[in-house]
Amino acid sequence: MSQISNMQVIPEQRENTHEYSLNDFERLITLGTGTFGRVFLVKRRGTNNYYAMKAMKKSEVVRLRQVEHINSEKEIISSVHHPFIVNMLCTFQDVNYLYMIMEYIIGGELFLHLRRAGNFPPPQAKFYAAEVILALKYLHSLDIVYRDLKPENILLDQTGHIKITDFGFAKRVESRTWTLCGTPEYLAPEIIQSKGHGKAVDWWALGILIYEMLLGYPPFYDESPYYIYDKILRGEILFPPYIDRIARDLIERLLTKDITQRLGNLVGEAEDVKRHPWFRHVNWQALYNKEVIPPFIPHYSAVNDTSNFERYPEPSPEEFIPNENDVDIYRDLFINF
Ligand code: AMP
Repeated sequence: MSQISNMQVIPEQRENTHEYSLNDFERLITLGTGTFGRVFLVKRRGTNNYYAMKAMKKSEVVRLRQVEHINSEKEIISSVHHPFIVNMLCTFQDVNYLYMIMEYIIGGELFLHLRRAGNFPPPQAKFYAAEVILALKYLHSLDIVYRDLKPENILLDQTGHIKITDFGFAKRVESRTWTLCGTPEYLAPEIIQSKGHGKAVDWWALGILIYEMLLGYPPFYDESPYYIYDKILRGEILFPPYIDRIARDLIERLLTKDITQRLGNLVGEAEDVKRHPWFRHVNWQALYNKEVIPPFIPHYSAVNDTSNFERYPEPSPEEFIPNENDVDIYRDLFINF
């Protein structure tokens, strides 16, 4: 079996996706939970290397009609490689569960740091936003829409740089979604109105993220989702006076309802966002090279420290041990996982 090194992926090792099994990893503690799975801190047996392991129950994935999403998550995450996107090392499955082994991102969710801080000073918000832009630009260049940008899915690594995780909603789309192509007489209304789920959704989400980082709460908020949707559709964004005019301009341009006018979705795509005056002092090349010193370095005491994660009730130790009689009735659905 080839050696996997800590917090680093060597591309060839990703090819051998069926080399590992659950027995190779010791399960330690829950780092986070999703709708049909959880993410654990695990230690590879016989090494001192720690990883994050996402475990998803096949029957739940099927019940919640997420088969396509999960297969696409695996396909997308194993095909992307970027400094600000989490690396996956391998996947494997047993009778009941699908498993993904990723590098362990020790600084935890941006969400937690934002809640602890209340809001971020503009230079800190700008740093995270800029790194997110580079990740989105990369994904969009591969015609991948991320579709789930939020502070819970942005992790901080040990040096304070971001790593985007959770590709459960990511999707490959046709390129150049902003272009109106085809014979005009035959175009469907949704193409003319561009109401698809194109790359523009990520730029909208970036607008929400920047607002929330600067103010500490999202621009459209209510107890009930119905009223949140209502507020989104009304599109009224309130800015307290301490938000400077340039930040406000950027947020308003990203939170433009008409996607043909939305920053990021115009001819210049991500470059337009990078060129916005709010980012005028950003050295994009240095940022990509991780030469820009992060505004905040997460605290941790050892490579297996989990103090930057919330505590969750742990499942029973037997949960992941298959019964002798268990049959993999979903085998055909996850052939490529
Ligand atoms: P997910 O189901 O992919 O959204 O992951 C749920 C939660 O698990 C995330 O919000 C993080 O708190 C945690 N998590 C996911 N991936 C990692 C990782 N690679 N390193 C550390 N924590 C992670």
